[in-house]
Amino acid sequence: MHIFHDAEELTKALKPDIPVILNRPHAARRAATYFVEQFPGKSLYAVKANPSPALLQLLWDSGVTHYDVASIDEVRLVRGTLPDATLCYMNPIKQETSIREAFQQHDVRIFSLDSKEELEKISRASGHAEDLTLCVRLQVASEFAEISLASKFGVEVDEAAELLQLARQAADQLGVCFHVGSQAMTPLAFVHALERVRTAIVEASVTVDIVNVGGGFPSIYPGLEPPSLNHYFQAIDRTFEDLPISYSAELWCEPGRALSAEYSSLIVKVEKRRGYELYINDGAYGTLFDAAHIGWRFPVKLIDSADNDTDFAEYSFYGPTCDDMDYMAGPFLLPDDIKAGDYIEIGMMGAYGSAMRTKFNGYGDHAEYDVLDEPMDSLYLGDYLDRTDRENVISFPHG
Ligand SMILES: *Cc1c(COP(=O)(O)O)cnc(C)c1O
Repeated sequence: MHIFHDAEELTKALKPDIPVILNRPHAARRAATYFVEQFPGKSLYAVKANPSPALLQLLWDSGVTHYDVASIDEVRLVRGTLPDATLCYMNPIKQETSIREAFQQHDVRIFSLDSKEELEKISRASGHAEDLTLCVRLQVASEFAEISLASKFGVEVDEAAELLQLARQAADQLGVCFHVGSQAMTPLAFVHALERVRTAIVEASVTVDIVNVGGGFPSIYPGLEPPSLNHYFQAIDRTFEDLPISYSAELWCEPGRALSAEYSSLIVKVEKRRGYELYINDGAYGTLFDAAHIGWRFPVKLIDSADNDTDFAEYSFYGPTCDDMDYMAGPFLLPDDIKAGDYIEIGMMGAYGSAMRTKFNGYGDHAEYDVLDEPMDSLYLGDYLDRTDRENVISFPHG
């Protein structure tokens, strides 16, 4: 496959009519290396954010050994791509046939659960195996995250004691896990959740071997600029060290977004302009699901070599399908004189971008290329590696 330097070189050469996903292997490697080296524990990759086999391989080659999978298809995909990876089946509601296949055919030993029924399912489907790692999912607040994961899964803290005790009896290793919600904008989200873990452990008086703080680590988007990741890691480390757990207990995290957001951007073509609305060739049923359904504002730029200083204006986008809901409100800031036939690059699309693509209305066809330039923004470069000038940073006394 030809490798282009950047979006401009590609659009000049190919003049693509279909959306093009640009992958940046170096950016994925950089994110993985950062987590592997800096997170004070083990980093799992949450596959749902971007299940591309090329990305899975890059993460593996960068030292990510554990993968959070949530469906039997994800189990098969990761096992097929990375034969030696450790798979963690972290959806608290699984079909018994899926648990059995994961256990028997794909060597899965790590499961999450949030109910007695699920514990019984796992026990039956694994033939009461004695080498299981069972992670009890706790319900925590999503108040600091952009996307809630609070209402669907998790046992409430004051009802967790019995489940923790039962899981302890069935497990070789007992874990506690949670998810603070996606794009958590402050480390406090994790500190508060870990305080709930403390309460649950004390109430149940069980020995816990693993504390898994889940995903939720942010990326960076217009209007959503978090503190640098080392502040998250530091806050988690301090709070974890203070928990009533054994000296040998392990700390895990399972980022999806933070490991994949910078991996990809997207080239779209403007098919028509109507005032400040642009009709483009990708949308709500394609790579731009989050831009449509939760109003996410991704960074954009006109692909154009001319260095003219035109004024900028605020645009919204319509996708290619015949559905009014195929609409991305933005606002997206682009030059005043943008017109049909122009190309736009949309950045930070690696997480929950191509993963969301459907074939609705006959769209969904796309191309993919690797490029060499840097992502439009980065939490792993320059200032963002240690950024302290944010209100939502919390500091701990040293020593
Ligand atoms: C979605 C999910 C993740 C990844 O979340 P991000 O916000 O992308 O980091 C991690 N763990 C579980 C259980 C999930 O469902």
